[in-house]
Formats: sequence, C-alpha cells, structure tokens
Amino acid sequence: MAKTAPPVKKNDMIELTFEDITHEGAGVGKINGYPLFVPYGLPGEKAKVKVINVKKNFGFGKLMETLHESEERVTPPCNVYYKCGGCQLQHMSYKMQLEMKQNQVKNALKKIGHIEGIPVHETIGMDDPWRYRNKVQIPVRSKDGELITGFYRKRSHDIIDDMERCIITGEINDRLVGAVREIANRLGISAYDESSHQGILRHIMVRTGQVTKETMIVIITRKEKVPELNRLVDEITKTYPEVKSIVQNVNPERTNVILGKKSKLLWGDEYIYDKIGDIRFAISAKSFYQVNPLQTKQLYDKALEYASLTGEETVIDAYCGIGTISLFLAQKAKKVYGVEVVPEAISDAKANAKLNGIDNAEFFVGEAEKVMPWWKAQGLRPDVIVVDPPRKGCEESFLQAMIEMKPKRIVYVSCNPSTLSRDLRILEDGGYETNEVQPVDMFPQTTHVEAVARIQLKESK
Ligand code: SAH
Repeated sequence: MAKTAPPVKKNDMIELTFEDITHEGAGVGKINGYPLFVPYGLPGEKAKVKVINVKKNFGFGKLMETLHESEERVTPPCNVYYKCGGCQLQHMSYKMQLEMKQNQVKNALKKIGHIEGIPVHETIGMDDPWRYRNKVQIPVRSKDGELITGFYRKRSHDIIDDMERCIITGEINDRLVGAVREIANRLGISAYDESSHQGILRHIMVRTGQVTKETMIVIITRKEKVPELNRLVDEITKTYPEVKSIVQNVNPERTNVILGKKSKLLWGDEYIYDKIGDIRFAISAKSFYQVNPLQTKQLYDKALEYASLTGEETVIDAYCGIGTISLFLAQKAKKVYGVEVVPEAISDAKANAKLNGIDNAEFFVGEAEKVMPWWKAQGLRPDVIVVDPPRKGCEESFLQAMIEMKPKRIVYVSCNPSTLSRDLRILEDGGYETNEVQPVDMFPQTTHVEAVARIQLKESK
C-alpha cells in the first residue's frame, strides 16, 4: 500500500534534522515518521543526507554536509578517526558521550526491563578521556617493501596505512609499537600476508601496568623460527628500560584470532604486575586483564559500595574472570566464592589471591549456571551475589538459581544495558527490586556502556 511505502528512495538527497542517537552513535532523523540512521549525525543538527539504503521500516543515510551544527560537535583529534573502526564517538563532546550512555541505560531499563522511577546516576567519566588503554594489539603488514602497523579499516581487513598513533592507547604502548616495527623493518623481518599465509610478523602487542609502568611486548609470529629475533630483542631491551618482558607467541593458523597456543619467553619476566586499588595482579601474555584500570577501580568501588559488606558475609562472584572483583570483595567479606568458565583465568585468580595474601577467596572452574545449583545443593547460602557476565547476559537458569538461593543483595555489573534490563526483569519477577544503577565510562570515545546495578530482595521470608 502506498501509505506504508518508505517516503525516500536510494540516492535521494534530503535535508534531515536529527532528534536522537542510536546506541551505535548514529544520528536518527525522521521523514513522515520513517526513521533514517545516519552515522556521525548529532541530535539537534540539520544536515544534507544522501539516502543509501532503504528498508521497509527504516533506512540508512550518509551525512554529506552539516547545515546546522550542534554545539556538542567537536573536531576528532585522531587523524584516521573516520577510517578506523576502533572509535565511534570522537566527533561528539565528552559531556555528550557521558549523557548518551546514561540515557541508553535509562531507556533500556524502561523499554526492555519496564523499570522506571529509580535513580540512574550520571555516568562516571574520566578526567582525561584519552590514552586510557593499557594494551594495544596491532596488525603488521607490508607496503612498498616496508613494514607498516595500523588498525583495520572499518568492516575490512585492509590496514590503515597512515595511522601514526592511537590516542586512546597509552603513550608508552604507542611508542613501543613504533620501535618494534622500526627495528624489525631494519633487520629485514617480513610481515605476515593474510592472503598467501606467508611472511612472519603477524601482530605486535604491548601491555603496560597503569600503576607500575612495567611493560610487556608480545611478538606474534606465524612460525617459531624467526631470523634476527635475538637482535630484535637486544635492541629493544638496550633502548627501552621500561620493558620488563618480551614474549614470542606463535600462531601458525589461518585465523582472525590474534594469539596462538604457544608462548615462549624471549627475555625478562614471564609476568608484569599492576595494581587496582590495593590489589596486585600478575599479568602474563595470555591473561585477561581490564584495559582501563583507572575506571575499573571506579566500577569496582561502586560494586563494593552496592554490596554493602560488613565483614560477615558470604559472597559469590559469578563470571569472575581472573578474580578482579572477587579479590576486591574478599577484603570486606567473610568468604568469597568465584566461578568462571575459562580454566586459565581461574589459575590466574588463584595466583593473584596468593600474591595478595588473600585466603578467604576460593575459585572454581565451570559454567555459572551449572555450578550455582551444585553450590545450592551443598548448602551454600550467599548473603550477596555479584555477577559480571559477558555481553549476552546471564542464562535464565542461572538467574533462577540465584532467585532460589535468596541472597539479600545482588550486584549486577554489565557491559550491555539490553541484557542487563532483560535480566533485571526476571529478577524483579522473582521477588527482587532494583534500587539504583550507576553507569561508568570504561571506554571513552567508543559506544561501549558499562553499568552496575544494586538489587535487593523485597522481603526476607
Ligand atoms: N569479572 C571479571 C571478568 C568479567 S568478563 C573482571 O572484571 O575481570 C565475563 C567473564 O565471564 C569472562 O571471563 C568469561 O570467560 C566468563 N564466562 C562466560 N560465560 C560464562 C559462564 N557460562 N559461566 C561462567 N563464566 C562465564
């Protein structure tokens, strides 16, 4: 029917006013109620837009010219921002980024969780929202016979060849990527070529302790034998005293996964160390470790506040990873039980507990949804449960097990407002109420949203 046909066609040039923004950071404008999504458009702006894709209920456009500019629009400081897939929000003020993230949490709670009228606080942001990442992993390729490093272009595997630096990555990391590339280039080490699966150097990874400034370099190669590798190591260690560890990781597969199975210490220590709050962490080449420790501290302080521990509580930390939250909680609880599905992460968690002299935290390998019923059968009665699941949220069986265990409080740390809201609905229907939610900006300049919710049992029976 003509009435339902989209009001625009492909390649139309239109004027559009943006009213809203999607969780991917695209501007949303409407023509007769038909929404068009336009990357880089900001609410309040009017722009000339080319229609590039028309679907039944919505379409996509390309921003050609801004006719009225938002006061929140800023010039992206990165020279490759519009090519790179890494950041999505550099064209908007940091203030607007924080508001956008708060609104996303609010909207998801309302639309998906039917939860309204509770405090969703202002996003906790960073004083300096740049150079916050402690880790960079960057592909190496060859161009005109020289080694180059750069991230992939959006939706492609072509490397951005004029990327000088990444300004959300720590300065030392940036500098060392450049140094390793330059030395390897001089020594004639070849770059990996994806299409022929030939060449040696696949990726350079650099990770630095936020507090300790200790740095680890991981050189990821297609095969183990690399000519001139010893000289590469020599030159790096002579020039860069902050480097405490150099590891070779061998990845012989045709794959997008960066790290291979085999790691080999080339020089220095197997671990570097870092601190979040009072807790020290030993980090190996393959360890998962939060990429923004400053904001991680903010997030965990909030989780700890929401857990309201007095020292008498038994606490479960589900999806505990390397035990970062568990060890934070253990300082204030009687006993903490952590569960996590990746065995290496649990080894790290145990080692980190030992490193900090924490003996009231116990860690288990397994799927949270399977371990919970088992714990319940064993008679474990937690006072507080903390969860920090991956983007897909918690399994329903896990949520039900939690409801049956009846902890007084649940603290839900989430990296996806949609699944958070879905899961909170289930908890609310099971007798819990959400008291408040705090968004924390762990990844400035990107669309990632992290939030922590405080949830309480309505009445203890
Ligand atoms: N709390 C940790 C890590 C959170 S990331 C930290 O702050 O560092 C989510 C974790 O959940 C990952 O480590 C992932 O391996 C783990 N995971 C995913 N599915 C799981 C499941 N079904 N049961 C237990 N852990 C799971």
